[in-house]
Amino acid sequence: MTSLDETIGLVPTMGALHAGHRSLIDAARHRCAAVVVSIFVNPTQFSPGEDFDRYPKTPDSDLTVCRDAGVDLVFMPALADIYPTAAVTTIHVNGLTDGLCGPFRPGHFDGVATIVAKLFNIVKPDAAFFGEKDFQQLRVVQRMTRDLNLDLEIVPCPTVREPDGLAMSSRNAYLSAPHRLQAAVLHRAMTAAAQGAAAGQLEAAPLIEAVTRHIHDAGPTVVEYVSIVDSMTLEPLTIIDRPARICVAVRIGACRLIDNMEIGGAATGVEPRVTRHSSSAPESGK
Ligand code: AMP
Repeated sequence: MTSLDETIGLVPTMGALHAGHRSLIDAARHRCAAVVVSIFVNPTQFSPGEDFDRYPKTPDSDLTVCRDAGVDLVFMPALADIYPTAAVTTIHVNGLTDGLCGPFRPGHFDGVATIVAKLFNIVKPDAAFFGEKDFQQLRVVQRMTRDLNLDLEIVPCPTVREPDGLAMSSRNAYLSAPHRLQAAVLHRAMTAAAQGAAAGQLEAAPLIEAVTRHIHDAGPTVVEYVSIVDSMTLEPLTIIDRPARICVAVRIGACRLIDNMEIGGAATGVEPRVTRHSSSAPESGK
C-alpha cells in the first residue's frame, strides 16, 4: 500500500447498509485518504430462485450512512453500467469454492469474483475491505487477488454482531420476530463448540454433531452445513490441529443465514475473537 495521502479504500456492498458495513467503512476511513463505497446488487451472484428480486433496497438511508461515515464517493451504478452487454467472461477460483456454500449456490462465487474484479478495475483502489462474516467470499477474493497479481491489499474486518450474537446482515430483514429470536442460536451453538475446542475437544465430528443438534433444538431449521475447515484452504478438518473456522449455513423461515467463527485457537496459537455491536458506534478494531 502506498502512503496514506495517496490511497483509495473501496468497500464493496450490495446496500441495505448496517453496522457491519459501517465497520468496514470505518476501517477504510482509518487507513485510507479517500473512501469509496460501491452499492450494487449483482445479479450474476444469485442463482435462479434466489432472492435477487426482493433483495432489500434502502438507497436513501444508505446515502445517509455513507455521509455520516465520511465516505468520499458512493458508486451506485445501474445494471447497464456494469453489464452493458451480456458478459461472457467470468472468473472461477478453484478449490476454495468447492465446499461450504459452493454446492448450495452454484455459480455464486464466480459471480462474486467477477464483479469484485470489475469493481477493482473501475475504482482502482489501493485497498479493499471485506467482512469475515462472508468468510468463504473473503478467501476467494484474497486468492483471486493473489493469483491475478491485482495491485491492491485485501483487508479483512471482523464480524459485527447484534447484542444476542446474531451476525448483522441485510438479509436479517427477512426474519419474522420469532425467527429472529431463533436465529441467535447460531452464535450460541458455535460459541459452545469453540469453548469445547478450547477445553481440548479437538475432534471435529462430535463438535459438528453438537452444533447441529443445538440448532435443531431451537426450532424448525434446514441445516445446509455445519463444517470445521482449515481457515486458509477451507478444506474440512477431522482434527483441529491448525488455524480453523467453524462455518454454518441454515435456513430459518424465509431467510438463509451464514456465520462462522475461529475455533481451536488454544490448540493453534490463534486466539478466538468476537466483535459485538452493542451501541450506535460499532466496534471495528481487530
Ligand atoms: P453485502 O452487502 O452483504 O454483500 O456485504 C458487503 C460487505 O460487508 C462484505 O464484505 C461483507 O462480508 C461485509 N459484511 C456484511 N455483514 C457484515 C457483518 N455483520 N460484519 C462485518 N462485515 C459484514
